[in-house]
Amino acid sequence: MTRQKILQVENLSIDYVVLDGIIKAVRNVSFTIDEGEVVCLVGESGSGKTTVGLAIAGALPENAVIREGKIIFRGRDFLSNRLKDKSTSEDRIMIIFQDPVATLNPLFRVGEIISDVIKHHLKITNPGEIREKALEFLKAVELPDPERVFNSYPHELSGGMLQRVVIAIALSINPRLLIADEPTTMLDVTLQAQILDLLINLKKKLGVSILFITHNLGVAAEIGDRIIVMYGGEIFEEARSEELLYNPLHPYTRGLLECIPKTHIKYSKLKSIPGMIFDLMNPPKGCTFVDRCTEAMEICRNVKPQLVEFLKDHRVACHLYRLEER
Ligand code: ATP
Ligand code: SF4
Repeated sequence: MTRQKILQVENLSIDYVVLDGIIKAVRNVSFTIDEGEVVCLVGESGSGKTTVGLAIAGALPENAVIREGKIIFRGRDFLSNRLKDKSTSEDRIMIIFQDPVATLNPLFRVGEIISDVIKHHLKITNPGEIREKALEFLKAVELPDPERVFNSYPHELSGGMLQRVVIAIALSINPRLLIADEPTTMLDVTLQAQILDLLINLKKKLGVSILFITHNLGVAAEIGDRIIVMYGGEIFEEARSEELLYNPLHPYTRGLLECIPKTHIKYSKLKSIPGMIFDLMNPPKGCTFVDRCTEAMEICRNVKPQLVEFLKDHRVACHLYRLEER
């Protein structure tokens, strides 16, 4: 069954202008998300994941410049139509971040916050109806006692409950695309698993598409239908989750996989890929992973590997994989 594409990102390049120069945070990034699909953006800190998410949500900071590219949401060029489209609630894209405490105003009860959003976006004015809707959304995110949560201030709730509240608020505008930027990073492992389960259930129940941003390939494997691996602002590899886990092609992806903690090995040392990310103000001419790659060759330093579909639905940017040698 072919599903409709809800989002197309084409050749997106984004710079940050800072005092001492220009940070080339995102370079030539292209990918798509289908209706009801969960796509994960994975990579170490500084790989440009959040910048891509913010660009799609129309929430880039003021010093960001979209140098090139298109963001097409439900068939419309989002960058040129951004202002017009903001008024249509059904076309909405919603973003949630890792720290729910920072998202919720501590001076208001949860009920007041969610009711305000419902009033504004769903254009409901009857207070009874607003309350009913709000409780419905709080129930949808599987909060055990929605009435109590409705009447609580954010500081009266646990981290896991707060993240559920934030997801309920996001859902209350009826988004077609939910961008979740490291939503489980601040939670312990049990709560993390519960929030991932919740997002998977919501995707199934509501058919909402999700762009899930994480530095943890293990988490991506649990939730993602498809995984996109980013490094230094570029896409290195993209495939369906099982394919990427069982047949990783790029040396960077293989390195990330080795960093996933093996929970059955007691006291195993947490691994990381040796070396540091390059200077984003002066990206290397060839492969940007060259200084950290154990398989680097002569060509890697001078020629940039292109992202090619080496296997069916499996793209990779590395000189180890040449189309003519398939
Ligand atoms: P993290 O997981 O640490 O958020 P990330 O993969 O999401 O990493 P981004 O946050 O998109 O990466 O950052 C990409 C690069 O852009 C980094 O080098 C970061 O320091 C830089 N950057 C991000 N925001 C700004 C900003 N407002 N001004 C200047 N540089 C920025
Ligand atoms: Fe390593 Fe070369 Fe592939 Fe880059 S292109 S990942 S340096 S083998």
